[in-house]
Amino acid sequence: MIRSSAVHRGGSEDAAMSVVLCPIDGSVISEVDAMQEAQVSAAYDAAVAVMDDWRRTSAQERGRVLLRASAILHERAEEFGKIETLNTGKPLRDTSREAGRAAYAFEYYGGWADKVTGDTIPVPGQFHTYTRREPHGVAVGIIPWNVPYVFAAKKIAPALAFGNVSLLKPAEETPLTALMLRDVLAETGVPEGVVQVVTGGSLTGSALVNDPRADLIVFTGSDVTGKAIARAAASNLTPVALELGGKSPQVVFDDADLDTALSAVMLGIFGATGQMCIAGSRLLLHEDVYDTFMARLVERVQALRVGDPRVEGVQIGPQITSGQRDKTLMMIEGAIGEGARVAAAASLPTEPELEGGFFAPPTVFTEVSPSMTVMREEVFGPVLAVTRFRTEAEALDIAHQTDFGLAAGVWTSDMARAHRMAAELNVGTVWLNTYRVLSDQVPFGGVGLSGYGREGGNDAVGLYTRTKSVWTSLEPALPPGYGL
Ligand code: NAD
Repeated sequence: MIRSSAVHRGGSEDAAMSVVLCPIDGSVISEVDAMQEAQVSAAYDAAVAVMDDWRRTSAQERGRVLLRASAILHERAEEFGKIETLNTGKPLRDTSREAGRAAYAFEYYGGWADKVTGDTIPVPGQFHTYTRREPHGVAVGIIPWNVPYVFAAKKIAPALAFGNVSLLKPAEETPLTALMLRDVLAETGVPEGVVQVVTGGSLTGSALVNDPRADLIVFTGSDVTGKAIARAAASNLTPVALELGGKSPQVVFDDADLDTALSAVMLGIFGATGQMCIAGSRLLLHEDVYDTFMARLVERVQALRVGDPRVEGVQIGPQITSGQRDKTLMMIEGAIGEGARVAAAASLPTEPELEGGFFAPPTVFTEVSPSMTVMREEVFGPVLAVTRFRTEAEALDIAHQTDFGLAAGVWTSDMARAHRMAAELNVGTVWLNTYRVLSDQVPFGGVGLSGYGREGGNDAVGLYTRTKSVWTSLEPALPPGYGL
């Protein structure tokens, strides 16, 4: 079995490569450049060289290019989905939906391009004063391995729409769809240098974020890397947005539609094998429904079919990297060591051809306390910790016993309570009687260790542009009250 999820070959700087593996069986599917500092620097040279031309390209034309790209990406969604499944081990159902989301990102931001306006401000005196929203310049996007195609699209499309050029670094384990996307964009008329995919691992990423020519950094990944990037950005005063991890609670009250809540709890933690920043990894059950809900949950988890996601009927694929699989197994062992009880666990596949795959068992823990690691820290795998509560206040108190604040789900038929919870939860996104649904139309981001800055919706304009204020005197005179 191949243990390392990405292997660097030794040798000269130019020859450094990352091996790309299929997590379903551990086989090698590709090799891509692990770009060194000199190559990163050359990417900046190319980006800076075309930055002004792209900025001056009319907003209508930028929008049209993105809309053309969206049409092609919609047409080729199946092909992108298949490659994503091969590289991430997620079921085709998921990767096809994600391919649609990636294509839609270009549609959404293509529509935005010519709708960005400034303000005219009625200041007193002889002035005509207005603002312009201008691109930053070189927008660096760095993304993790869990939703590679969607994240590549969500970093590149807004950058381009608002007049920036894009340097995108995918995770070294999952670079394939980002590279395909780059090629589609070249076909649709994005000039050379405007979108570059910089491949490699943490050293490549570090070279990217430490370069003073980065005008904006938008990062999605772990809190540990987020802090390193914030430090690098601070050294050059580069603006940065950080979309980090989560430990999101799903809170189920006794008056909830329990059938839908149960399905959403399953989807929220076992979908994508738990590898979602928004995974609903903590379940808070009202004590009056605890026993019945748990009985049904245990039954559903024990029946889960884990295996090759390309096979009909398989619901859960492997973890995307061997490192993540090892982390999940370690967190499961750790939870048992801290005294949590395994209430349910699904079986791992036994087919010999999957022996090299990165599988971890979907697991549900009960008898957890808020101080346990499994209740506070992100697993990023199919591991759910369940606890009970009696009152709304107690549910909020438990929900807040983590440093993360990305998302939360609330299940209740009492709408006043639902909105009270939405107002009180210290997170970036709240789902009321639903979970996991996202759209480019809606801002997204976290609080606390889940990061800062918002992508998506109207907030994307604020992120990818900066305001310039222009004062014009309509009279040949100094402003009243000024003078030496
Ligand atoms: P990671 O932080 O290890 O890596 C993310 C990216 O950062 C990769 O491309 C990596 O090569 C790069 N990188 C690593 N070190 C770097 C450095 N020093 N400088 C610059 N770049 C560097 O994260 P991961 O393990 O790939 O992904 C899992 C994490 O991502 C989880 O914590 C998950 O919650 C988070 N995530 C967050 C969101 C969100 O929108 N909030 C979405 C998906 C995943």
